[in-house]
Amino acid sequence: GVQVEFDGTTRVVTVSNQKGGVGKTTTTVNLAAGLASIGARVLVIDLDPQGNASTALGIPHSADVASIYDVLIDEEPLADVIQTSPESENLLCAPSTIHLAGAEIELVSQVAREHRLRTALDTYLSENHVDFVFIDCPPSLGLLTINAFTAATEVLIPIQCEYYALEGLSQLLGSVTMIQKHLNTSLHLSTILLTMYDGRTRLAQQVADEVRTHFPERVLTTVIPRSVRVSEAPSFGQTVIAYDGQSAGAVAYREAAVEIVRRGHEQKSHEGAR
Ligand code: ADP
Ligand code: MG
Repeated sequence: GVQVEFDGTTRVVTVSNQKGGVGKTTTTVNLAAGLASIGARVLVIDLDPQGNASTALGIPHSADVASIYDVLIDEEPLADVIQTSPESENLLCAPSTIHLAGAEIELVSQVAREHRLRTALDTYLSENHVDFVFIDCPPSLGLLTINAFTAATEVLIPIQCEYYALEGLSQLLGSVTMIQKHLNTSLHLSTILLTMYDGRTRLAQQVADEVRTHFPERVLTTVIPRSVRVSEAPSFGQTVIAYDGQSAGAVAYREAAVEIVRRGHEQKSHEGAR
């Protein structure tokens, strides 16, 4: 298979869209697995109390498991909660547990409440190397998502090729601009990925065209098709890369991973990595 050179920097990518069900978690875990399969070392931070990313990576995340909650609220080192996915030694995950559901409220009264993930990640990265960090966000623009935006250098927005796809996007972009201004000047929208694409429908084609017209520089050439294999994989505690590596969804996510690496090299002069 393809093996790609990595340059020693770490790209911290937050996968965001305040809509639920657009493919954030699916994209997070499958891009991470796709990148690991081409030789990258990847850390997934599961910031959604639902814990779907942890599940899909085969990571135990019952209430008694050390999780990202302990990092955010009790300042436990990130290194102490990270587990390795059974799929690959290069695929790491800081799981979420149900406790994270309360964190949104608990964070409100905490010191440096917007910076807690960033601080933990900076400490981790000063002692450990990963090529990519992917942060899976909950479907809201609350303090968990703000922590992700503050810790990241890049925003990746998955867009489902359906009606209303662009609705809410200007609010999301407004939030990114606000974060850039007040909390994290290096944050930028790097990538838009079209997901659940069904090329047989006119609507999907129209939505794809519209998104490409609005964001010509940001949309990946690779499109993720709607595929049953993609939706089945999490119930086996697997990414589609491990579950059915030859399926259209797995091929597409691996291609998207390669494209993200290649585009990163092209934008090298841009302040996109730290
Ligand atoms: P979000 O994290 O944005 O809420 P998910 O990644 O959980 O969205 O996806 C929502 C649902 O859509 C899930 O049931 C998932 O399995 C399904 N899904 C996501 N991507 C695809 C795809 N390419 N093909 C088929 N089903 C998909
Ligand atoms: Mg999700």
